[in-house]
Amino acid sequence: MMKLRTQLLFCVFFLVIIAFSASKITCQEVEDEKEFTYVLGSENGPEKWGEIHPEWAACKSGEMQSPIDLINERVAVGTHLGKLKRSYKPTNTTILNRGHDIMLRWVGGAGTIQINNTEYELKQCHWHSPSEHTFNGKRFALELHMVHESADKKVAVVGVTYKIGRPDTFLSELMEHIGPIVFTDNEERDVGVLDPRHIKMGSRKYYRYIGSLTVPPCTENVVWTMVQKVRTVSREQVRLLRAAVKDESKTNARPVQPIKKHSVHLYRPMDAGSN
Ligand SMILES: [Zn+2]
Repeated sequence: MMKLRTQLLFCVFFLVIIAFSASKITCQEVEDEKEFTYVLGSENGPEKWGEIHPEWAACKSGEMQSPIDLINERVAVGTHLGKLKRSYKPTNTTILNRGHDIMLRWVGGAGTIQINNTEYELKQCHWHSPSEHTFNGKRFALELHMVHESADKKVAVVGVTYKIGRPDTFLSELMEHIGPIVFTDNEERDVGVLDPRHIKMGSRKYYRYIGSLTVPPCTENVVWTMVQKVRTVSREQVRLLRAAVKDESKTNARPVQPIKKHSVHLYRPMDAGSN
């Protein structure tokens, strides 16, 4: 009886070991595998994102994918969208290298933007280089995405583009924190309190359209606000952000997507005494 029980225990023990090593192997495979890359024409490159996982199908078959080329002739100009209502506040942040970009996460409540009477809370921001959106076919050195989420999980992204020139003051605040994480992997580090109001837009004019996330799963119905003004960033700042990208292309911009169901509006404040 005793012997049988010992044998049974051994059996269970071995099964556990086998199950454990099997799961370990699976995990390693996933970790080793680059889920998606930015290398055009490669196996997991942007043209193939929609085929990698069934949940990523929108990357291929979506009707309102981002980024897009913002072309003057295609844009409806008006004042009806209203001034972008931002009420941000300083809060604790962390920073991490996600492999395909550097992300700053606002841990506390960093405040909100208001679009069509919906409040979206600032969650995180990250950078793409070169820019993902293009203006009249022109691509820039860098694009910042500020990702916001509403209480019912709708996403609104505010994008700012940069060309090479004077350093961006917000990135200057961050340089000392980005340097040490260039070669790390998903290791979240505290940055301390940062003020999102230090992210400058420099203009009240913006493009508005409904698009998607620009990385898998390419989820649609994202409210895009692209600031029309192109700001500046130093070559060194761009170099550091690019060094952090583990993709062999050292870039992380999805190619512009075909215009299907998008309609783009430009908000321009009225000249006379408007804010
Ligand atoms: Zn982005």
